[in-house]
Order: sequence, then structure tokens, then C-alpha cells
Amino acid sequence: MSMPALMPVYPRCEVRPVRGEGCYLIGENGERYLDFASGIAVNCLGHGHPHLTRAIADQAATLMHVSNLYGSPQGEALAERIVANSFADTVFFTNSGAEAVECAIKTARRYHFANGQPERHRLITFNMAFHGRTLGAISATNQEKMRDGFEPLLPGFAYATFNDLDSALALIDGETAGFLVEPIQGEGGIRAATPEFLQGLRKACDEHGLLLVLDEVQCGYGRTGTLFAHEQYGVVPDIVAAAKGIGGGFPLGACLATADAARGMIFGTHGSTYGGNPLAMAAGSAVLDVMLDEGFLDHVKAMGDRLRQGLEQMIPNHDHLFEGVRGMGLMLGLKLKSDSRRFVAHCRDHHGLLTVAAGENVVRILPPLVIEEAHIAEAIEKLSEAARVYVPAADD
Ligand SMILES: *Cc1c(COP(=O)(O)O)cnc(C)c1O
Repeated sequence: MSMPALMPVYPRCEVRPVRGEGCYLIGENGERYLDFASGIAVNCLGHGHPHLTRAIADQAATLMHVSNLYGSPQGEALAERIVANSFADTVFFTNSGAEAVECAIKTARRYHFANGQPERHRLITFNMAFHGRTLGAISATNQEKMRDGFEPLLPGFAYATFNDLDSALALIDGETAGFLVEPIQGEGGIRAATPEFLQGLRKACDEHGLLLVLDEVQCGYGRTGTLFAHEQYGVVPDIVAAAKGIGGGFPLGACLATADAARGMIFGTHGSTYGGNPLAMAAGSAVLDVMLDEGFLDHVKAMGDRLRQGLEQMIPNHDHLFEGVRGMGLMLGLKLKSDSRRFVAHCRDHHGLLTVAAGENVVRILPPLVIEEAHIAEAIEKLSEAARVYVPAADD
């Protein structure tokens, strides 16, 4: 049996990027793409942002990695800034989103253990959720396509229906640790939680002594126009997993928690060789420099409104194909009446526009947060042109 050197777990497309310039990607043969996928909500500052690339280059030349056996002035500085700008009191740095989710799950279990209630180990999660690809993270989703063949999975999860508060409340029992939920589901199809749903989960947590654990790996870090999406719901979480945009393209994640929720995470309970190394901290702190700069998040909001308007205006002209727009800020989804994967491929291959397919036939539109009006106009033009010539397959 022949097996490619690169393990063939991804259905990779023909685009083979070798360079990035702001909001554009350039392929092997010099072809240009408008990048409204951003490495799946990662390249929040676009490609080659001078502040980020300089910070990484300078830090690489100064000190790339030391063990977490030593003191971390870089980690303390970034954690303090994140704490100062969020609900959290404490931060654990990881190298990816799934690891941030793992830390969040461990922190939640350990909280109840520290409170003398180790039987409260079960997290209630939701249909269409995506939390990453580790065994813990796939155990936290009931999507079979991610779980098939990997059993036995980690016990300790129960599955309710997203945006159906009663279905979640009905699962609470003496073994429940809390809820793990994406405020806006990304892979699931840009499905935003309703305010009543998220606020209802918070209320149930307060009533039953449970933890509200949010997976903001995709929707966090400025994507929706606030540093974290939950800020727009008037909901204060206990634990949050962050990643993707947090390093602007450098592998970085974080588990944020209140002091109370993190009470069980004492010496020796968790660790990571690379997690929070000086190079990652330089990347994370450069991203935060830009994101906390006056006007940055307002810009995201303004561009989000502008992009949504543009999409909404376009829909009636192509209502054989498009159904509607969903999402928040610059985390938008264009719902199609037919298969979104084929339309995403068509936009990419014939119109030089990169987007990402998601569940429920949604085209995910996740541009760099630094886009300008001209990029939006270009994207709308490309989408309109694509919609004009695109013919859905008969079996879509
Ligand atoms: C991408 C994603 C993850 C997993 O992040 P990785 O860095 O791929 O491990 C987890 N949760 C959500 C909501 C995501 O979008």
C-alpha cells in the first residue's frame, strides 16, 4: 500500500501558497488569492504584519525556548495583560486550540475535585460542536465523522441541543461539572448562541454550582468586534479556551480561568514543554499590542457591519443560491441552498477568493481583522460574479 510522506488526513486542494501579503495569498505559480479564510480565523493581522513578524524575528534571535522549569518574565507579562483585559484571573498557555480545550476540561474537573465533589465530572456539550481533534476534544462532540474508529473515547460528556436551553437543563444531575459551549459555533456552520441560551446556561451554573466553560478558540480574540464574544452576551464565564487568532499565525493557545474556577490547578497538575515559551509569548504580545490599540476593535465592528451589508445586498440578486447571512463581526456565514463545499471550491479556483466551508451548507467568511473597505468590495464582487456563473450539481 502506498502512503504519501505527508499523512493524507486532509483533502487538500490545488492551492499551494508560498507567500502572503496582507490580505492576499500567493501560490506556487504566482497566482493571487483574496484571503477571506485567514488560515481558519487565525491570521487576524493578515500576512506579514510588520509588528508581528518583527517581534517574532527579534525574539527568535534573543531567546526562543526555555523550559517551564524556569521563571517566565515573558509569560507573566502576557498573562497579566490578558487578565487585565478579560474576565480571567489566571492563564495557562498552550500550543493549540485542542490543548486549550483539554486544559479547560481538566480545570473544570479539578475544580469539583478540589471542592470534595470528584463525582461531578461530566460536562454537557452540544450538537454540531467542534472542540479540536485530541481524544478529549473529540469525546466532547457527538459528531460521528470525528469519532468513528477512535473509540473508546473519554467518558464524562453528555450531549444536548445547541440553543435549546431546556435540553441542556434536563441533563443536569449530581455528576454534572458544567457546560462546554462555543458562543458561536464555527465548524458547525457559524451558529451563534442566542442571548437567552447563553444567559440561561450561566444562570443554571449559578444555581447548581456548575462551571460555564466557553470554547472561544474561533470566535474569540477580536473576531466578533470584542476581545471575546461572550462580552456581547452580558455573560461572564468561569473558564475560556482561546487559540487561533491569539498568535496571529504563530501556534499559541490559552486557557483562561477565574481564580475560583482554577482552584484545583496547583503545582504538578498540568504542564506543556513548549507551552508559553518566549517565542510564543512574543507573538502573543505583538498580536495584543495591535488588537488593544485604540480603534482596532471598532474597526472590526465597522468592517463586520459593512461586510454583512454587502452580503445582504447581494443575496436577492442570487436567491437561487443564497439563503441568508449569519454570524457576528468578521465571523460571518453565508448560508447556501445547495452544497457549500463545491461553491467554496468554485470561488477559490475560478475567482481567486478563499473562504471555508462549514456545516449546514454555510460558506464561512473569516477575513483578516485588518481588512479595509476595498477588500470587502473586492470580495463581494468576486462572490457576485461566482454566483452568477455557478451551477450547483443536480445532487447538491
Ligand atoms: C479550531 C478549533 C479548535 C481546535 O483548535 P486546534 O488549534 O486545531 O487544536 C477548538 N475549538 C474550536 C471552536 C475551534 O474552532
